[in-house]
Amino acid sequence: MNRKLITIAVGLLAFATLHAQTTERKFTKKEIEKAELIIPRPALHPIKSSIISCPGDPIDTLDTINEQIKIILFNDNTWKYWKDPSMTLAKEDFTKNWNTDAPDAYGIPYSELESQWSIWLVDDASEFCCPYVGTIHPRGKFGPRRGRRHQGIDLPLSTGEPIHAAFAGKVRVSKYMHGYGNVVIIRHTNGLETFYGHLSKSNVKADDWVEAGQVIGLGGSTGRSTGPHLHFETRHKGYAFDPQWIIDFQKGELRKQLFVLKKKYFQQTSNYEQDFEDELKNEEDDVKEDEAAKKAAAAAAAIQYHTVRSGDTLGKLAVKYHTTVKKLCQLNGIKETTILQLGRKLRVK
Ligand SMILES: [Zn+2]
Repeated sequence: MNRKLITIAVGLLAFATLHAQTTERKFTKKEIEKAELIIPRPALHPIKSSIISCPGDPIDTLDTINEQIKIILFNDNTWKYWKDPSMTLAKEDFTKNWNTDAPDAYGIPYSELESQWSIWLVDDASEFCCPYVGTIHPRGKFGPRRGRRHQGIDLPLSTGEPIHAAFAGKVRVSKYMHGYGNVVIIRHTNGLETFYGHLSKSNVKADDWVEAGQVIGLGGSTGRSTGPHLHFETRHKGYAFDPQWIIDFQKGELRKQLFVLKKKYFQQTSNYEQDFEDELKNEEDDVKEDEAAKKAAAAAAAIQYHTVRSGDTLGKLAVKYHTTVKKLCQLNGIKETTILQLGRKLRVK
């Protein structure tokens, strides 16, 4: 039996098993939610863009016990999980704070934001694709620029080059906007929104569902732009942060699967390249502080006292605590001739 046949046989077996399970009884909503939670989370390492390792053509789709998760088999003997978007789209994340015209659909005051969020950028059933693999323009970084705030990064390109959706999601905005030119804004299942500006052409419209890697438009120079480039933003709760926190655009990789987004990344001057150095430095300082604290704690733990009882002499105590009379005198500010009073606490170490 060749590999392809084995794959199909295994697939059919999996299908048969799962099918048998699903026909026995209906799963409750709670069980389905639980199944969603136990999707294996792979180890933390950079995620290659899915266009770099593009799978073959899909040949079949299998159900799993989680009705939202399907298995897609490809003609190159590979398979992957696929999340059916219909249930996702019904969730509040895609109905509440939904505005097909404005860059910020949330309108949350900065003071009401939490201090940080842990965000699973991708899991086994979702993918990442680098929107455009390239080098960020030296003057196209995130942060203050000519007295204004640059809310994203700029990737120079040639007009007409394909621009890919970073993650699966629902298109919230696709229109011409002052400054952005033709812009597509996508809200993703991980809670982030991504912006793609200055497009020469948009392939999607508001409320469309897009998969990670789908070509949502073509690069261009529309709006406030001096040459063809992609203006790309990542936002959470309406606030922009440097996309480089999560994406290495030169390698086309997602830096991590689990991203701890800190509120401070939304600040005017926050920038991945500077803050990352600062954070490393902070971590080093934290380690140093921890070590100093540990030493202090160990020193405190090493201090020992002895309560003077009848018959105790400095000589006897020195032997008992493996020290010297001289040291005992130093520790307690006494002389060798000092008479030890009963009940007195002497430091012996
Ligand atoms: Zn820009």
